[in-house]
Formats: sequence, structure tokens, C-alpha cells
Amino acid sequence: MLSKMLMQSMRIPWRLLGFAILVVVAGPLAAQQLAPTPQRVEQSATAAKPAAGRPEDTEVWEPVPKVVTPGANNTAPPSDAIVLFDGKNLDEWMSASEKERGKTPAQWIVSNDELTVNKSVGSIETKRTFRNYQLHIEWKVPENITGTGQARGNSGVFLASTGPGDAGYELQILDSYDNKTYVNGQAGSIYKQGIPLANPTRKPGEWQTYDVVWIAPIFNADGSLKTPAYVTVLFNGVLVQNHFELKGETRYVGQPFYKKYDAASIKLQAHGDKSEPISFRNIWVRELN
Ligand code: MG
Repeated sequence: MLSKMLMQSMRIPWRLLGFAILVVVAGPLAAQQLAPTPQRVEQSATAAKPAAGRPEDTEVWEPVPKVVTPGANNTAPPSDAIVLFDGKNLDEWMSASEKERGKTPAQWIVSNDELTVNKSVGSIETKRTFRNYQLHIEWKVPENITGTGQARGNSGVFLASTGPGDAGYELQILDSYDNKTYVNGQAGSIYKQGIPLANPTRKPGEWQTYDVVWIAPIFNADGSLKTPAYVTVLFNGVLVQNHFELKGETRYVGQPFYKKYDAASIKLQAHGDKSEPISFRNIWVRELN
């Protein structure tokens, strides 16, 4: 038996023998190198899973998104927007001052298609109330602005106005072109809660834009918070708040906390500082409920 095998091996050409040795030596080495780690096993198991069904199985055809005609540019209101100010009048607004809230029309100044803050009469807010929405608003700090810090072009957009004066959730407006202040109070901040991710402020005298997505907080029947508010803000086209989770209403003094509300007005702030008043234009909103 042994002699027969020896005889056969003698007949193997040297070239084949070399190849056989290579396989014997290199085979286990290659197998070792390719030995699947636990992670690799997991990936290959996933990748190896055959695609089930047909392409049509994962196509969704309803509900069909509604047709919306965009504005002539990316700041003009699209066809389904509620226009809150188009340069003509304050029909959509009323006073939000401590004394006059809900009683008197808004008394800010409309001129040259712009709306200018009238600090002597206090803040104004929309007659309509909203929950979730997309908002576009443009604002301008006057070229001749004076003052420093928070006393320079201060105003604000309260994304939900939960009471007179400064009650609610404020997206800060300020001249932050070259004006140092606390960073959670500069333009684009959620006042004293959310520092903006960047400072894209233009010079005083130039128009600035805010494009906002506001997701209102949801409350339980007993007034406790179910889900917090979230806000995304583009400031002059630059992302400054990215699905930011609010801790509650914005507060000048003290920590924020939530207070139950259902739907709320959007409010524009008349700030009490002595600097020249700012102006607004082209304000529109799209409800997302
Ligand atoms: Mg303010």
C-alpha cells in the first residue's frame, strides 16, 4: 500500500507538487485573514438577505402632496400662505400690550410698504392663532442705529404669545452685526435658551430674513408637558437653530418653564430700550397642522 502511494507520488510532476505545497501552506493563512469577525458576520448576514417582493411593493401613492405654487422668489409667499403683512395695513394684527391686549388694533407705523415698531404703544400680535407653522419674516435695523448690547435694535418674534408683554417663546431680534452681548441673547437666539449656530447678520440698513419652523409643545389635560416645543430657524438663509428643543417659555429673569396653551398668536416685540425702532416687511405663515 505504502509503496503504491510512493510510486504514485513519484509520478507527480514537480510543478504540480509546488502548487500543492503552496495551497497547503497559504490556504490556512488566507482563511485566517478572511476569518469573519462578529461584525462582519452580521453585515454579511444582512447583505445576504434576499430582496423580497417587487419594486412596486415599496411604492406609496397616497396621500398625494397638495400642489403649492411657489412665490416668484424664495421670500414671496407661496399660494397656500396666510399673509400677515404685505406692506399695506395691520388688519391681521392687534395690540399685545399689558393694558390693551385684545382690546385695541395694532398701532405701529405702516409706511413705504414697511411696518415700523411704535415703542410707545407696546408689542403687537396676530389676531389669528396658530399651532405648528412655517413662518417667513423680514426685519431691518435702521442705518442710524445707536446703543450697545441689548439696547441696540432689540425686538423679537414671539413664536407663541401666551400672554401680554413678553409672555411666550421669543426668537430674538437684535443688531448683532458688530455688537457684543451675551450669546444666548444675540440675533437668531432663542432668548436665553438657544445660542445660534452662526451669526449671519447683515449691516444695519439692510434687510434680514428669518424662516422658521415652529412645532408647538403638547400638553396633557392636567397641564403637564407631553412633548416640548421644537424650532428650526434659517437666518438670512443660514441655519441657526436646528430642531432646537425648548425648555419652556423664554424668560428675562429665571429659568424657563412650560405653561399650558393650545393655539397662540405670533407676537412682535416693542422693546423698551431707547435705540431707534426697527422695521418689518413681508410676513407670511403656512400652517402645518
Ligand atoms: Mg427681544
